[in-house]
Amino acid sequence: MSAQSASPVPDRGRRAMRPHLPMRPRWLCQVCAGPWPCQPARLLLLMDYRRDRVALSIYMAACLFDATADLMKQNPDPRELFDRFVGWTARPFPLR
Ligand SMILES: [Zn+2]
Repeated sequence: MSAQSASPVPDRGRRAMRPHLPMRPRWLCQVCAGPWPCQPARLLLLMDYRRDRVALSIYMAACLFDATADLMKQNPDPRELFDRFVGWTARPFPLR
């Protein structure tokens, strides 16, 4: 089961591109083999959640929770994991 299946957002707009989904338990991208979410995965997630950035943060927090459990044996740096999964979802600057 992929992490993407938990998304409440319809799959519209993603079909043209190969889905950059995580391979668990290592959380590497199935397409580019880099740490997930890779740049294409982030772009797809931003498109999917463009109307609800808070939901994106919540979804990625759930991924962080799962990834922390999966990657625990690798003794990951908590700050790096946070930045990788949740930090990038924050808006670059506050709205008005
Ligand atoms: Zn990728």
